[in-house]
Amino acid sequence: MEMSHRSSTYGKIQETAINDLRELLNIPSNYKVLLMQGGGTGQFAAVALNLIGVTGTADYVITGSWSAKAAKEAAQYGKVNAVLPKVAKYISVPRQSSWQLDPKASYVYYCDNETVEGVEFDFVPEVPASVPLVADMSSNFLSRPIDVAKFGVIFAGAQKNIGPAGTTVIIVREDLIGKHLKSTPSILNFELMDKNSSLMNTPPTFIIYVMGLVFKWIKRNGGIAGMSKLANAKSKLIYDTIDKSNGFFYCPVDPNVRSHMNVPFRIGSAAGNDALEKEFLAKAEADGMIQLKGHRSVGGIRASLYNAVTLAETQQLANLMLDFYKNNK
Ligand code: PMP
Repeated sequence: MEMSHRSSTYGKIQETAINDLRELLNIPSNYKVLLMQGGGTGQFAAVALNLIGVTGTADYVITGSWSAKAAKEAAQYGKVNAVLPKVAKYISVPRQSSWQLDPKASYVYYCDNETVEGVEFDFVPEVPASVPLVADMSSNFLSRPIDVAKFGVIFAGAQKNIGPAGTTVIIVREDLIGKHLKSTPSILNFELMDKNSSLMNTPPTFIIYVMGLVFKWIKRNGGIAGMSKLANAKSKLIYDTIDKSNGFFYCPVDPNVRSHMNVPFRIGSAAGNDALEKEFLAKAEADGMIQLKGHRSVGGIRASLYNAVTLAETQQLANLMLDFYKNNK
């Protein structure tokens, strides 16, 4: 933990982690992998600072809380065009034929998996070749195959699928580097980060070490295909339990965009029943399952099934749900 980030020993740790990630995602050679701090929220600003100056405007596809926050942040640095009409609740992804894209946008931004609402894209948006696609994959990174070549920038905070909080992975196409606004802080500047091999200042070395171990673990466990198979099996267990409960458990999200990582649901009715949900959470906790409470903005329950959660653990949750249903229906 005390190792200097300038030592060759650490250099090797970081290089190995990045190379393993390149191998896992088959990242083409014209893409750079950067490790930055500031989390996903830091990238909300960084993406705009580094890219919006090209034309001064950007398209934001808002399908949940995190893309909404990203759009708000970007609006400080340029003109943000909301591609979709405002909705009261984020429970779907409108098909692309209905989108209002601006041909002059510097980039098109979307969040591949909305962590709070449990809305996950079931397609990669099609954008003109001249407009880079930017994706926040913070909460489903390395959980399903992606074709990196379709994207201009992909970013993901480590803390869901790839390690403890503290570093953010940015995969950026080479030709998009160097287009930042003049006022871009050095720490958020893709060009400076790239020039300095993500070592412009002290990185969270221990976090990056752990992330490297996670990449090795994913490689040993079937790579991205293995993680994807597991994510499908785990989420199916919970969604099937919800769907077979005659409305006792209720998930508001459109079936085609239900997240494989975050399963939000209510108990008792579509609006939820506070007493039942409290009782369920207490039973889960007594059974060793903590932090199943939904995000404070939507309430209810949320099962996050990140890569490290096993099928057996997910079955344990499904069993608890089934028991709870039988005792309270
Ligand atoms: N994007 C998504 C999809 C997220 O789930 C989160 C955090 N949960 C963020 C961005 C923000 O990340 P951070 O807390 O690292 O700033």
